[in-house]
Amino acid sequence: RTIQLRNLIGRAATTREGVRVQLMANIELPEDIETTRQLQADAVGLYRTEFLYMNRQGMPDEEEHYQTYRQVVEGLDGIPITIRTLDLGADKQVDGCTTLSCNPALGLRAIRLCLKEPRMFQPQLRAILRAAVHGPVRIMIPMLSTLQEVRKLKAILAETEAALSAEGIPFAKNIPIGGMIEVPAAALAADAFTRELDFLSIGTNDLIQYTLAIDRVDDEVNYLYDPLHPSILRLIQMVIDAGQRAGIPISMCGEMAGDPRYIPLLIGMGLREFSMQPGSLLIAKERLLELEADKLAKQTRKLMKRLGESDYEPLLEQICTRH
Ligand code: PEP
Ligand code: MG
Repeated sequence: RTIQLRNLIGRAATTREGVRVQLMANIELPEDIETTRQLQADAVGLYRTEFLYMNRQGMPDEEEHYQTYRQVVEGLDGIPITIRTLDLGADKQVDGCTTLSCNPALGLRAIRLCLKEPRMFQPQLRAILRAAVHGPVRIMIPMLSTLQEVRKLKAILAETEAALSAEGIPFAKNIPIGGMIEVPAAALAADAFTRELDFLSIGTNDLIQYTLAIDRVDDEVNYLYDPLHPSILRLIQMVIDAGQRAGIPISMCGEMAGDPRYIPLLIGMGLREFSMQPGSLLIAKERLLELEADKLAKQTRKLMKRLGESDYEPLLEQICTRH
């Protein structure tokens, strides 16, 4: 089986009729770079940068950020990478960064925290802009809920670029800026976000948590965690459709994207970019190669219309299993 999967390395990720799909890696630690290269992922769709802050005292400075990102970018040897800005808070707590919120998932986390604490955020932005000189880099903002956050981020980025210019430090200009759609409000307003961002990525781990009101770290309620809940399917479809209307790329980087059971359905919904743990890449490719995008699109359109009725489940099951 392992040999069979290994044979897929280097083969383009397409459906049976040749629709090209991007299979990208979610990475975190330096060792993930080697796996990503070996498996020839199309790109890194999500680089989680929180590990730089974890299990240590104090905050990393710009140089530490820069050296880390530069090594990652160079190590990928031309494979494009999407670096996510800090997503601290909630399930990703660190020393010296406490929150007063009773419910950290709804509190000052991710982009909210970064916009409030520019002294913590600026070194990371400077380092990303500098590292982008060494390879293709995009920036992605986690946990967006309002357009104001996008605008503030862009203003900070412009200031950061001006400062680097003034200091004569080399950095990459015009880096694509994207946002994570992981709050239901952002999914419902995806159209607006497509006008101000270069790409979107659906973070289903949090989108499911917030839509179904289930704490993702609470084992008592994880039986309710359901990527196939009609509300989740509708939100995902809205984001994909908004991206298609605007002509910007839409990817998915939550766990759902790497689960072979859901790939046919997501292909049917029109998703063409999947980002997952490196270990899932070949299994996803194997699944993809046997799918027919056209047929799935027809079935999925039918399913989406039927979601409000009581008998949609057999059709959903058929899409998920019979391909
Ligand atoms: C997500 O929420 O789906 C996601 C990819 O981000 P994280 O799991 O790091 O919160
Ligand atoms: Mg998330």
